[in-house]
Amino acid sequence: MHNSTQIAVAINHCKMYINGQQEISKGKLVPQLNPATGETVALVPECTREEVDAAIASAQAAFPAWSKTPVLQRSRILFHFRDLLEKNSEELIALVTEENGKTLDEAKGSFQRGLECVEFACGAPTLMMGEGLEQISNGVDTNVIRKPLGVCVGITPFNFPFMVPLWMFPVAIACGNTFVLKPSEKVPRCSVRIIELLYQAGLPAGVINVVHGAKDVVNQLLNDPRVRAVSFVGSTPVAKYIYETASANGKRVQALGGAKNHSVVMPDSDMKSTVESIMASSFGCAGERCVATSVVVAVGEAGDPLVAELTKVANSMKVGAGDQRGVIMGPVISPEAKERILGMIDAGEKEGAKIARDGRGDSVNKSEGNFIGPTIFDHVKPTMRIAKEEIFGPVLSVIRAKNLQEAIDIVNASEHGNASSIYTRSGTTAREFTNAAQTGMVGINIGVPAPVAIFPFSGWKGSFYGDLHALGKDGVRFYTESKVVTSRWVD
Ligand code: NAD
Repeated sequence: MHNSTQIAVAINHCKMYINGQQEISKGKLVPQLNPATGETVALVPECTREEVDAAIASAQAAFPAWSKTPVLQRSRILFHFRDLLEKNSEELIALVTEENGKTLDEAKGSFQRGLECVEFACGAPTLMMGEGLEQISNGVDTNVIRKPLGVCVGITPFNFPFMVPLWMFPVAIACGNTFVLKPSEKVPRCSVRIIELLYQAGLPAGVINVVHGAKDVVNQLLNDPRVRAVSFVGSTPVAKYIYETASANGKRVQALGGAKNHSVVMPDSDMKSTVESIMASSFGCAGERCVATSVVVAVGEAGDPLVAELTKVANSMKVGAGDQRGVIMGPVISPEAKERILGMIDAGEKEGAKIARDGRGDSVNKSEGNFIGPTIFDHVKPTMRIAKEEIFGPVLSVIRAKNLQEAIDIVNASEHGNASSIYTRSGTTAREFTNAAQTGMVGINIGVPAPVAIFPFSGWKGSFYGDLHALGKDGVRFYTESKVVTSRWVD
């Protein structure tokens, strides 16, 4: 039964997907707020235990037929899905901006990256191929075939409502698995809409299901024996918890965590392009990217001109609602995130870092949304909180280092290891940094090593728990297990 408040706002009620049908949850409702205006845009349910159970049961029931469906047919549905995504791109891009706050240009970029994940998964007939060797003994041949696992689960964060779910389920279902998706409760509607398009593309009922909620729903998914594998993207403490809990329950897990990415700027770097690249990397998506540059390590004389230029460009950035023309940076996700980020800026100031550009003033002028202007700290010490902890907001810390080795030591002291970059004109310096950096992704004269569907998203240390990463061939291996078939035929 729904109460009258629920019925009055049913139009904005975020639906679940069970057995190919959109359904209204009987669970408690939580308002979803537009980060740029603070207005309620939808009500998001916390699905009940029975509903989550029904979603898993639906995925399990769909598995035998789906896994037996020829891979060419499975991939054909994904081709149709890809076309439907493109046909509806404007609507989806606008939805990403409304849910998450990023600018329309940023939402468009994330749409393209997501689309490429579907295109990659369309190649399942080739990607799933095994290998074989005949005559390993007299009359004996051996082949390795790759089999789907069964019911897989995806749990996603708020910062890429369109792209991150597409890191997971297209490859999973293309390989013959069925799926239960639990999107971020902060941005759930994008997932519901893309699953609607996937069913329109011809997916059989139950192959993918969507449930909503947070910790309790996740715990139920992690503890259900019918779930074979869990893909997670989110913060480090939750990634670690997911990895420990699901793997203790015998499941395959890939858990991508938080980040604290460093960019090293050498004195010989090209200052103009370096500044452009760092600004986009640090303040794009309001700093809410797991590949954002959060710390710049300025080597030798690079420091003074770099900070002066970064500050100049930051002063010219227009902050506002992501759907407004000319806006370069949108709001952060929630009032709580804004408070936390402002608290980190206060902490940096108290610890003695020098504020070169203060974005706190920008937040006061637009009190209805979660706005913070670009903030730059100079002369940050590696021991300060702003240098060590993930801020996940528009705050950049500049640490000064004497030489390349000191810079590498600073990068490698981080407990995270998602991405790092170096800006230099020297191939020798770039090579030395690439070899020494303890991060799973390295950029050379590039700020954001953007996730590309054909390569694994390769975080290290506290940025990743598991063995096989998301995307690329790792993703295909994660969602399949190998079976070795040895045969002898006697005449
Ligand atoms: P989050 O960890 O708070 O939430 C992620 C998901 O986990 C959500 O679906 C949420 O409902 C669920 N969740 C939250 N708390 C939980 C708990 N205690 N137990 C079980 N489930 C829980 O992350 P977020 O704030 O949505 O996203 C931002 C974080 O994600 C940042 O740390 C960012 O670096 C990280 N991120 C990492 C990558 C990557 O590829 N490594 C990509 C994007 C985002």
